[in-house]
This record gives sequence, C-alpha cells and structure tokens, in this order.
Amino acid sequence: MRVQTAFNRMLALPRAWVRDVAFGSEGVIVTVALRPGAPVCSGCGTRGLQIKEHRVKRWRHLDLGAGRCYVECRLRRVYCPGCGEVYERVPWARAGSPYTRDFEDVTAFLAQQMAKTPITRLMRIGWRSVGTILARVVADKLDRGRLDGLVMLGVDEVSHGAGHRFLTCVADHATGGVVWAAPGRNAVTLQGFFDQLTDEQKASIRAVSIDMSAGYEKAIATAVPDAQVCFDPFHIVQLGGKAADQVRRDEYNRHGRSSTAEGKWIKGTRYSLLKDTANQTATQLRKLAEVVLTNKRMYRAFLLYGELRYLYRLPKEEAAERLDAWLAWASRSRLKPFVKLARTIRKHKAGVLAAIKLAINNGRLEALNSRVRLISHRAHGFHSPDALIAMVYLCCAGIQIELPHR
Ligand SMILES: [Zn+2]
Repeated sequence: MRVQTAFNRMLALPRAWVRDVAFGSEGVIVTVALRPGAPVCSGCGTRGLQIKEHRVKRWRHLDLGAGRCYVECRLRRVYCPGCGEVYERVPWARAGSPYTRDFEDVTAFLAQQMAKTPITRLMRIGWRSVGTILARVVADKLDRGRLDGLVMLGVDEVSHGAGHRFLTCVADHATGGVVWAAPGRNAVTLQGFFDQLTDEQKASIRAVSIDMSAGYEKAIATAVPDAQVCFDPFHIVQLGGKAADQVRRDEYNRHGRSSTAEGKWIKGTRYSLLKDTANQTATQLRKLAEVVLTNKRMYRAFLLYGELRYLYRLPKEEAAERLDAWLAWASRSRLKPFVKLARTIRKHKAGVLAAIKLAINNGRLEALNSRVRLISHRAHGFHSPDALIAMVYLCCAGIQIELPHR
C-alpha cells in the first residue's frame, strides 16, 4: 500500500486527499489537497468570493503514536464583505483554529470527563490552548434554539476562584440544562440574560426560581413581570441545615468548646443532627439518641430541620398548612437561628409555596448546582470567567461530542 493511501485511510479527513507525507523534527507532516470547488468564507459561509492569494496553512492533528502529526494544505484566501480577508472554509477544521476538528473534539470530550491538567499532558498542549479550544467547540455546538419556548427557569449563583467571584447560571427546569451563564450575581447580571431574549421568548416564561438571598428579584420583576418568582426548595432546606448547625455551634461554645468532655461530645454530633436518619451509621444514630436525652436545644434543632425537609415530601395541598405550623413552631423555638430563618421564610412565603405548587424539579437543579460547583473547582486556575463559562456550557448544556472514531 502506498503511504498516501495509508494516511488517507488513517486520517479520514473529509474532502481531503493526501499528497505527501514527510517526517520532520516536529513530527509527521501530512500534506493534503482540498477537493475542487468554489471557495467558501470560513467565517460566514458566503460563496462566490474573490480570491486574493494562496497560502499554506498548518493544523495540529491527533498524535500518531509517540509523534505529533500536522496537516498542511495550500488554501485560497478570499475577501468576504462581512469577514474581511480570510481563509476559505475546510471541513476538517473550525475557522481560525490551528487544530483539526478531530483534535478539538477529543479535547472537548476529555474536558467533559476529567480535570484540565491530565488533558494538557495527554494532548500535549498548554493550559491556555485547552481554554481556546473549548470556547470554539462550545460556540460551534451550543444549541441556538435553547432560548426558545422556555417555561420554568432556575437562576443560581456559583462562586469560583479564590476571591469572591461569582457566575450567574440560568437553567431550564424542563431539561435540567444550563441555557445561559455570565459573570456576576446581581439584578444587572440577570438583566443581561433577559436583554438577549426576544419578546416572544420572554412571553413563554411562566416561573423563575431563585435563592431567597439572591438579588435577582428586581430583574425578574422588570423583564418578565407576569412570571411567578419561586424560591428553590433545596436552598431553603440548606438554610435549615445551616440553622441547625448554628444551634450546635452555639451549644459547643456555651459548653467550654473542646476544653470540656461535654464540648467535645457536642462537636461530634454534627452528622447526627444534619444527616437524614435513614442514612446515618449506627454510631451516628446512637449519638442522636444521646442528644434526645441530654440536650433539648439540639434535639429541637434536629426536629425543626427534619420537619422543614419533610414539608417538601408532602402532598401539595397540605404544604401551606404545614408551613404555617412550622413557622409558628420555629418562631417560638427560642433558638435564635431558627427564629431568624422563620422570619426570612415568612417574608418570602408566596414564593416558597409557589415552588411547591409548580413542583419545581428540585433534585435536578440541586444536582446541576453541585455539578457547576465541581466544574468551577476543576477549572480553578483559569483566570478568565469565559473559560469557566465555556466549561459550564460544555458539561451542563447537553452538548454531545462525537469522537473521530465513531
Ligand atoms: Zn464571511
């Protein structure tokens, strides 16, 4: 078999045929020719353009064994009224990229599965290159119709990086996918999302769920005044957990912290108070039994937190009544963190009940929230929010990457 034929079959580049293969110090260089046809603008796809000149372009392709592989092709540079002077389009690479499509797709596929550092080693590219590749793949693959026909949205903030930097993510409750993300976490940030929507796209939105503490309400009221604001159950349950833990901490401080046996024992009751009893170990359950017998305040905190979680498992019709009962109980509990939480929830009661009534898909949103957190953790070291946003889209917007060996 001729070496050109072998490489034609190995690389299987669409609309290209191999003319020459050379082994240089940098790796294997495969020279290909584009099958004949009128040039098309690589930027916008316009045809019938004026040819300015011919130039050889090179792309990094997937490694061949231990060596790097490059594809070279003599291309026409065209003048496009919309894009200026650009290379003609080739089917094996995205516009403006120094990598082939196969190379970029494999990189993006890996980024959906693993951390950045092993990718830089496996693909033998720099940290920054991973970022630009992902941005290109996302721009290419992100579903352009994702903003059409949205009915229930979830808006959440995610912190990233070392400082207090935040990302606002908008998710579709129906699919559980992220449809939009941007740096920042206030009404102005979210306003940026609504500004992108057409009137028709805004009109289909019936409800938007948020965290009670977030500053998004103003943007929702302005942009989609007819949409119902709901408060995400998992954020509320989270606040219940925090209140219960605060009660434990106050008790710990009151009992001489770790200097006393009592303080040490209180320190060790955390999981007995916070974990669902169905998931507790025998030791944790035993500790819980000790709490019931010896510390009334912590026991009350455990019960209040449990009842708050239970509220979301009840039939919808019972929720309003049970919430009122819970609020009354929490307000009278003489546990400061719960008195405070009851005040907050009472202020936001309509939105709390709306989330129950509309059956906001909580588990999905909570999973998405922790997934975005994981990504932002993995992307730690990426200084630009754009790189993180590309990762969020890549992993949470339903993008399917096809591998070259399909
Ligand atoms: Zn163009």
